[in-house]
Amino acid sequence: MRPSKNLSIVLGIAGAGVVFYAYEAFRVRGEAGGLAKSISPAYWADRAAGRDLFDPEKRIWYKGVREKKEVTISFDDGPHPLSCRSLLATLKDKHVPATFFVVGKQVEGNPDLVKMIMDEGHALGNHTYDHIALDTISREKVFDQINRCDRAVENATGKRMVLFRPPHNRYNDIVLSVVKQKGDILMSYVIGAKDFIGTVTKEELTADQQKEAAITPEKIIYFVEKQLRPGAIILLHDNPITAAALPKLIDMVRAKGYEFKSAKDMMSELPQHVQLDPNPEVPKASQPATSHN
Ligand SMILES: [Zn+2]
Repeated sequence: MRPSKNLSIVLGIAGAGVVFYAYEAFRVRGEAGGLAKSISPAYWADRAAGRDLFDPEKRIWYKGVREKKEVTISFDDGPHPLSCRSLLATLKDKHVPATFFVVGKQVEGNPDLVKMIMDEGHALGNHTYDHIALDTISREKVFDQINRCDRAVENATGKRMVLFRPPHNRYNDIVLSVVKQKGDILMSYVIGAKDFIGTVTKEELTADQQKEAAITPEKIIYFVEKQLRPGAIILLHDNPITAAALPKLIDMVRAKGYEFKSAKDMMSELPQHVQLDPNPEVPKASQPATSHN
């Protein structure tokens, strides 16, 4: 009788473990990017080590810690002469720090705006020179795209950029190895507000995106609200419709009990305590683009 009793205890514990595991996998499915991912042991190993937030090997920052109601905000594709000043005025008025992922060719046309972003205490990140998909081109061209954007910002501000975001969030191993070689960090995002529609040509949009083409400030706020969660990196775009949405968007996020943090502060709170100066001084007479750190 004894062995079978022990066996049933063991099976009972194992069964409870499986039920708990399944429950946890189901609970975090949204955060993990789907049930298929949240049910895999690899996801839980990464999560225990904090690698689902920041992967030091790949140098990708995915999101901030889950324990604090904090978010960080970022604006891609600028500086845009029709909206950048308005974004900056709202951020200043509401005391919100942000990261601007700028496009090199836009930087060359608007160096005063780039300087203004930095002077007002925000971070500048690299979003390539021509805003092209990096996963379809050679390593040499990837390097050139990132490098030329670096040069443009260095010429405008005297500072270099450590944070990088690939256009359309498209990257492969080549892109990651270039980012690593430069000692940069790829800053991903959690919340997309679909506010890029209207800033790109129709040909660049999928059929679904074209259906949503009538974007309004209300829709942008709705998309952000729907996806709001602790540690979220919010991706917006430097364009007039987003500039119109920003004051109410910030108020909505705060009304939900969230605080806005800079990328630097959120990264310092990660399990790995990443210490980041997003825009260090360019060392004199150096070639940061070819450094191998
Ligand atoms: Zn972009």
